[in-house]
Amino acid sequence: MNMADHFNLYPLKVFAATVADCMDFPLPESYCPGVSWVSNILKERMGGAADRVVLYHADAVGHYIWQKYTSLFAPVYQHTSLALPMLSTVESVTPVAHASMYTGLDPEQHGIMTYTRPQLTCHTLFDEWIAAGMKVAIVAQADSTFLHIFKGRELEYYEAPNALGVQEKALELIATDKYDVISIHTFDYDNAAHAFGPESKQALNAVSIEAEGFDRIAKALAVHKDKHRTLLTYSPDHGQHLTAGGNGSHGSKMIEDMNVVHFFGTI
Ligand SMILES: [Zn+2]
Repeated sequence: MNMADHFNLYPLKVFAATVADCMDFPLPESYCPGVSWVSNILKERMGGAADRVVLYHADAVGHYIWQKYTSLFAPVYQHTSLALPMLSTVESVTPVAHASMYTGLDPEQHGIMTYTRPQLTCHTLFDEWIAAGMKVAIVAQADSTFLHIFKGRELEYYEAPNALGVQEKALELIATDKYDVISIHTFDYDNAAHAFGPESKQALNAVSIEAEGFDRIAKALAVHKDKHRTLLTYSPDHGQHLTAGGNGSHGSKMIEDMNVVHFFGTI
């Protein structure tokens, strides 16, 4: 870290309650409070509380990728109106970060503090939604952390081999107009960034694939816009930094790993 580094303000644990507040959905006190000015703006734009949420988690897309390659996010801007700088967890790895996002807890509290993927036994946002009778789906790439730490719930799990396959499945589910909540996890960028470096041609191409999928998902949601107030988010878990060997890595407290930006849209 150097003097020019600034860590983003809001920790990922605010995500759960911020989303729930957009739905006027009460959460137990264990959840870190949401960012109320964000949920208030979004509810105002929707004309009320969301009755549907679709949460797109493009893995490992760091804040500086947005700063340096802003135009790649045009398909995300198309359907969102609010960008919020967020700070990943320590360690800045997928299961730690996503557990915090869906429990509103710090890593010491939810218990996943490093790259392990036990089934979470503490309450998650998924459990709250299910207890309220909502229909929930997770659509994720094969071996996604979501399919490990959030398994064993009364929700529907779908998997596909890559981001495009996941996006196709999400489009199918959206077309049925049956789901209250769809969480989507793709990691084509993470894979390419690990292999070739976070700013490699292959990795930046994957940012586009994931952003363009977000655009198709938003358009599919818009088909039902007269019947629903939908919250749509683009919510990465952590970033990646370039290693001396030219590959990508994460897990550290480096600014490249820690700072991400979340986008929120209303349909
Ligand atoms: Zn990740």
